[in-house]
Amino acid sequence: MPNAQCPIPHSQKMRSYSLIAPAKINLYLEIIGARLDGYHELAMILQSIGLADEIDVRSISTDTIRVYCNHPQVPTDKSNLAYQAAELMVRQFPEAFAKYGGVEITINKQIPVAAGLAGGSTNAAAVLVGIDLLWKLGLTQSELEELGGTLGSDVPFCVAGGTAIATGRGEQLSPLPSLDSIYIVLAKYRSLEVSTAWAYKTYRQQFGHSYIRDSDNLTARANAVHSGVIVKAVLDKDAREIARKLHNDLERVVLPDYPQVLQLREVFANQEGVLGTMMSGSGPTVFALFESQQQAEQVKLQVRKAILDEDLELFVTRTITHGIQVASSI
Ligand code: ATP
Repeated sequence: MPNAQCPIPHSQKMRSYSLIAPAKINLYLEIIGARLDGYHELAMILQSIGLADEIDVRSISTDTIRVYCNHPQVPTDKSNLAYQAAELMVRQFPEAFAKYGGVEITINKQIPVAAGLAGGSTNAAAVLVGIDLLWKLGLTQSELEELGGTLGSDVPFCVAGGTAIATGRGEQLSPLPSLDSIYIVLAKYRSLEVSTAWAYKTYRQQFGHSYIRDSDNLTARANAVHSGVIVKAVLDKDAREIARKLHNDLERVVLPDYPQVLQLREVFANQEGVLGTMMSGSGPTVFALFESQQQAEQVKLQVRKAILDEDLELFVTRTITHGIQVASSI
């Protein structure tokens, strides 16, 4: 990316979009096997939640990409997924870049980092949506999702969000009817991180012998999730049944190595009003589901009392029906 100061014509009006970028949880995560491309074949149910970052995307009068973030653990260089999303748009749409100039991205981080909540992925999705608007490209949802898939497996889901089955690497999406207002408590130790790459590598080492290997069976098994019990519970909007069928294969490797995560699971499981509890993605965030906000608030207090550790962050949120949304534009 050139760094030269290259003013764009005054006739091009500066514009700025403020976007809401929600986190996700996994209601279901099954590792089916290994793919020829080295990734895992997955069957997941992904759910957007109210906890969200705010992303401002603004045209600037130089041909550069700049990223600012209020969170010290989040890089602002090319390793930031939001930066990579902007770079992708520059590569894909050089004429629009020449016409509208560079982009400044400001991330107001509320989603815990390296938490299994798709924080980086939802930021990248917001930048794709924001630049599409800034540059008046008129991309469709599926075009945005396809671009997102080149950045990371969770990015396509984050574009439209809501509730969806995700197969393949997680990029093949089948929307499900929206689930709104299941209340959630999220628990994460601020200084505890689990590397997604480590979790999958360890899973492969320990359980790779049981992987399905031939491609027809891989696809058949991935498709079976569509008629599985948890999808039926989602279709029935039955929060109790969804909570009973929560599943995450990665717990098999993360819980034995991270006793704090296991402890959170156990503390949640013993609270009144908890419909079900599970680790999200590769962790270390643990979530619990509730029928009412009052129950969720109550259990948040109980967990705070049970685990007297200032490093533990707790959030009350709920399922939502959307992904990236425009909050305002100037
Ligand atoms: P996923 O659920 O998709 O596996 P995650 O929630 O576990 O993701 P992220 O919050 O995306 O993890 O952070 C993973 C790593 O990515 C962090 O260590 C961080 O340094 C880096 N990163 C790059 N860009 C971002 C971003 N925009 N927001 C957060 N982290 C980012």
